[in-house]
Amino acid sequence: MPYAERADIRHHDPMPDPTSQTPPTPAPDAKDWTWVIEQPCPDCGFAGALIAPGEFAIRIAAATAPWQEVLRRSDVRDRPAPTTWSPLEYSCHVRDVCRIFDERTRLMLTEIDPGFANWDQDATALEERYWEQDPGQVAADLATAATQLSRTYAAVPADAWGRTGRRSNGSVFTVTTLGRYLLHDLVHHLWDVGAAPLAREK
Ligand SMILES: [Zn+2]
Repeated sequence: MPYAERADIRHHDPMPDPTSQTPPTPAPDAKDWTWVIEQPCPDCGFAGALIAPGEFAIRIAAATAPWQEVLRRSDVRDRPAPTTWSPLEYSCHVRDVCRIFDERTRLMLTEIDPGFANWDQDATALEERYWEQDPGQVAADLATAATQLSRTYAAVPADAWGRTGRRSNGSVFTVTTLGRYLLHDLVHHLWDVGAAPLAREK
């Protein structure tokens, strides 16, 4: 996988940054996380294959709402380990995931088999200085981005779930599989900070 397409990888080994004011960037592993579309994730327990597209909008809302509480934690800026993102850094990432996947989904709904622009999540974290952002502002922006993403999925026409788009590495998604993929990302990052999606109303 090219270094630049890393919306779907997790962090493990340290990669020290030369500048003293910048926290070390977690190094990526080379795993392609598209398997989570079909198989349950052993870490967070998400089972995307079982989720009907009609549920995506409400599940996006349930998997993003808990960040409001996470962002009020007194230790929100603390990294649990030197190369593990703090809850604040994860929340900035999730806000940007909502924005990027909303853009990708809309693109698939309006263009024929579009290619997605690269998104280097670690470069973005450094450029946007995630660790310095204001938790209250991030909470507001994350809520806005998540609401927009949920609305986009709520408005997908019944005959449009099979529309396609592709990443620069050649992975092909449909509106359905991109939804499952991004839902895993949302659920997994809650798991990363010890939170969980809101229980679903019956
Ligand atoms: Zn997971």
